[in-house]
Amino acid sequence: MKLNILGCYSATPRTLNNPTAQILEIKNHLFLIDCGEGTQVQLRKSKLKFSRIKRIFISHLHGDHFFGLPGLISTFRLLGREADLHIYGPKGIKEAITLLLKLGDSWTNYRLFFHELNSKDSELIFEDDKVTVHTIPLTHRVYTNGFLFREKPASRSLNVVAVDKYAIDKSQFTNIKKGKDVTLDDGSKISNAELTFNPPKTKSYAFCSDTMYQENIVPQIKEVDLLYHEATFLDTEQHLCLKTKHSTAKEAATIAKKANVGQLVLGHYSTRYKSLEMFKEEAQMIFDNVLLAEDGRTFEV
Ligand SMILES: [Zn+2]
Repeated sequence: MKLNILGCYSATPRTLNNPTAQILEIKNHLFLIDCGEGTQVQLRKSKLKFSRIKRIFISHLHGDHFFGLPGLISTFRLLGREADLHIYGPKGIKEAITLLLKLGDSWTNYRLFFHELNSKDSELIFEDDKVTVHTIPLTHRVYTNGFLFREKPASRSLNVVAVDKYAIDKSQFTNIKKGKDVTLDDGSKISNAELTFNPPKTKSYAFCSDTMYQENIVPQIKEVDLLYHEATFLDTEQHLCLKTKHSTAKEAATIAKKANVGQLVLGHYSTRYKSLEMFKEEAQMIFDNVLLAEDGRTFEV
């Protein structure tokens, strides 16, 4: 699993700061999470093959999280895309995008599917045989969701030596990999633990932006390998959080600690601060394993 940060600053694009967009590479998927202005340029710089993006997840309809989307949709058309594109985002996203396409008479030549969200409870919004994606309802000035990406456990792998030893027939292998025990012809039972190895540990990633400090997300993101949590402000500007419904680095770290996550990635920084190190220092007073998102940086789990 690999997280590619394309942009991780709040509000306005600047010479060296791009608004929110990320690519999560997980089990052969290339999921785009948020699509701020400049996402296409960042994608080109990243060398990711972006025609492979089939699913886009938009947290909320503030411009710094989705103004890059109409441009990307249009570019896909110009590049002759044929593959379906699925967009998950708040109710209203379909109207916003289709109005732009309609006014420019630039309908896509590929199929565009909108999955509009309006539930205040977590929902399973995508699932295949390898991964699941759930929403994480957040608290912001407009309706907002984070997203929880989880790998599904692979089947158990066969212990070939043990299987040979008991001369177990191939026809039983599928059931053994699913965790079933085996009864031999003489009636003796061989436990599955003797015939298989544990599958590799599954990985998980939680994206939480934008949001104010909200402890009720802790149970849902408990022990994820990687948590991206917004840290728009430092504690010195905590008074701005209530008005703007954002979090501080300290609050992000408190969530990470309570959820006992593997690693915390901070992002969505206000451009008022000169150095990102201050975010890290503040967070590390609460939680050790803190990483700083930076445009172009990648994190591998
Ligand atoms: Zn916002």
